[in-house]
Amino acid sequence: MKLQDSYKSFEEFESSFRVYKDVNFVDFFIKDCKTLTSINAKFPNGRMMTASSDLKYYYIKFCCVHGGCYKKKKTLDQRSTSTMRQGCDAGIYLKASDDGKSLVITKMTEDHNHEVSKILYDHLPNQRKITPENKATVLDAQKILTIRM
Ligand SMILES: [Zn+2]
Repeated sequence: MKLQDSYKSFEEFESSFRVYKDVNFVDFFIKDCKTLTSINAKFPNGRMMTASSDLKYYYIKFCCVHGGCYKKKKTLDQRSTSTMRQGCDAGIYLKASDDGKSLVITKMTEDHNHEVSKILYDHLPNQRKITPENKATVLDAQKILTIRM
């Protein structure tokens, strides 16, 4: 995955993004996005009317989970710190091409201002998987619900 790479569908991008995240031990969140549906509702005569619906997005911006740019809280307390927010500027910007046939990486910043490691990556909330124990609890809860009904 690099600058100017293009994808025929958002799905195609997602699968290489997944690999990218796993290989580089970084995770991202959607900072900003606009779907093709919403851009077309706004500009019914716009050139995106003919865009492939597989693209899903007109543009989508991902930021490193350690970026401090999300949830802009209007607070004067600059002392409050969080391990998740370290002001990292790394991110990826994906935009539909002018012909509406592909999504193109138009911006890509890979400079993380923090440690990047597998151990840290594995501990990110998004990486938590349902353990067999959790699954059993869910099934039990469903059983109880059925009995009550
Ligand atoms: Zn980062």
